Amino acid sequence: MNITKISDFLSGKNVEEYYQLYKSTQWYDKKRMEEYQFNKLRNLIIHVHENVPFYKKYMADKDITPDDFTSIKSLELFPIITKEIIQDNYKAFIPENIEKIKGVKTGQTGGTTGNILYNRNDAATRSSTWAAFKRFEDWMKITRNDKTLSLMGGHVIGHQIKHRIKNSVKGILKNKISFSPYDTSEENINNIIEVLKSKNISFIRSYSQFLFSLSHRLKNEGLSFNIKAISTTAEPLTEEHRKLFKEVFNAEIFDQYGFGEIGGVAFECEHHKGLHITEERAIVEVNDNNELIVTDLDNYAMPFLRYWNADQAIIDEELCSCGRKSALIKKIMGRTCDYIIGLNGEFLHWAYFWHLLFDSEIAKTKNLRKFQVRQKSRDELLIRLVSDPISPELQNILISNIQSRIGAIQIRFSFEKDIENSASGKYRPVVNELL
Ligand SMILES: [Zn+2]
Repeated sequence: MNITKISDFLSGKNVEEYYQLYKSTQWYDKKRMEEYQFNKLRNLIIHVHENVPFYKKYMADKDITPDDFTSIKSLELFPIITKEIIQDNYKAFIPENIEKIKGVKTGQTGGTTGNILYNRNDAATRSSTWAAFKRFEDWMKITRNDKTLSLMGGHVIGHQIKHRIKNSVKGILKNKISFSPYDTSEENINNIIEVLKSKNISFIRSYSQFLFSLSHRLKNEGLSFNIKAISTTAEPLTEEHRKLFKEVFNAEIFDQYGFGEIGGVAFECEHHKGLHITEERAIVEVNDNNELIVTDLDNYAMPFLRYWNADQAIIDEELCSCGRKSALIKKIMGRTCDYIIGLNGEFLHWAYFWHLLFDSEIAKTKNLRKFQVRQKSRDELLIRLVSDPISPELQNILISNIQSRIGAIQIRFSFEKDIENSASGKYRPVVNELL
């Protein structure tokens, strides 16, 4: 039984087909891959030229046609796009033929930027992203029989029973046990340790910082495990992390890179020389500041062409010893984020606040555009919002939710016109002035 095929059938995706393709394209030489990319890019440019008002206008104003694009390099004919540009021209980025694009879904994203964008993708984008991830599982030698411990994502409040049941059924089908990394209570940590001791886990997916704290605890308790592979995401994976994970879990460690708007951008292979860019689905450029500019070759529902996301990285053209010819992301400097430290010693990750604002529906109903949480002192938080005003009742819901996690810390709100970027140009959703 092929689970991917069944899940494709149920969801209207086409992961299996992309996966079979990407199993062979991973060995393409540079020239062949460029041809493959250019073919996809050209089709995308024809699409935006015909259907996307922003690009229709831009190309008309600059007197450019799809025929002017003769190589990947021609992408430079297009402007660099930022989140702010999309927000300010939101309607002009909606394709006029959106009804005809298969499997369009709209969701919110902020990623580490804390700057809200409602973005869309389509069935092809999701299929391609999952296929790249499935290939990554091959690199990690993970199969459906390997029991997974997942320590990432999840909702903070307002779980609907239906949603919870659906997720636990999915978990059983996928041989996966999940815990929330936002819950750093003694009970949650003990449950995780119990699963590690008793469930024969062979694969861990986690936010790196959470796993790092957990690993310290395990090491102090003299515990160690034999895990096949660990993959981390969303936060930087440092040498210090790798060393401790290796020590506690005796596992091979794999990093991956993607962000809210564009997933599956790069994955570490079994030779551990860097992260292979998924060139089948993304073109990655860097500016003079080593900041990434990414083009999503699959997404017709919301074109991300030359999208600047401010994460800093070093790209290496030197080939990996594994034989795959794609460029490597050697090091990702971005993705840094602070934590809020509670009165009870627990810490809260930026994504906790992100989920809180969305799960409470505040983001949607109050036109939230940006947020930042600042820890001013040990017992005082300032929540800055660029949004419509929020009633005292709603503020109290947020306050009591946060206090239930980290103790009776004093919380103030400030409604602002805009929230400035840090000196590096990067938006920081959580700033801890104590650190
Ligand atoms: Zn490699």
